[in-house]
Amino acid sequence: MKCSQCDTPALYHLVEGEHRVALCLACYSKVAAIKQQEFDNNARLMNFALEHMDAAIGFGPATPRFPIGLPSVIVEGMKLNNIHVTNSIVGTINTGSIGSIDQSISALRQFGEQDIAESLKVLSETVLRSQDLTREQVNSIVESLSVISREAASPPEKRQSSVALTLLEKAEKYTSMANDISGICSQHWPVLVSFFQVATGA
Ligand SMILES: [Zn+2]
Repeated sequence: MKCSQCDTPALYHLVEGEHRVALCLACYSKVAAIKQQEFDNNARLMNFALEHMDAAIGFGPATPRFPIGLPSVIVEGMKLNNIHVTNSIVGTINTGSIGSIDQSISALRQFGEQDIAESLKVLSETVLRSQDLTREQVNSIVESLSVISREAASPPEKRQSSVALTLLEKAEKYTSMANDISGICSQHWPVLVSFFQVATGA
């Protein structure tokens, strides 16, 4: 059966009153996101009302509140665990690359490579919010970072360090010319460069 909203095969049935609507995974996840938002909005209103009651009473323990999840940034269905960006920034850039950087950072943290993971995180976030870089430069650096982070997270015997070092050199040049981020980036590129230099024995 086809999804009622697009040409993808349906995986879910949504029951709305008397209607059963067939939906694919992507379309269903949009519905689920809307439902979650509605729930969060209602919970906020209830919490606000409870605050009012507590303020009017003025004594006793506070009335319990509904926990409301912080909205997380979803990049094409992927949840980012390390890189903090807003959807407005992400909209215009290569989201697949951001997702893969984020996954490599998670892997590096698991391997105990905290310094590399942190530098990759800071560089990604910094580049994404730069106003002085052009969109093309941001995309180019983000794509480079996705390759660099993947190589960093690869086992040492498979790591293509010279590829990473070439990309690092190019990315470093771009950020050194962007006034709003050159300072912070110049603290983090060397961490990555020395990581790969050690690997090549350069
Ligand atoms: Zn669909």
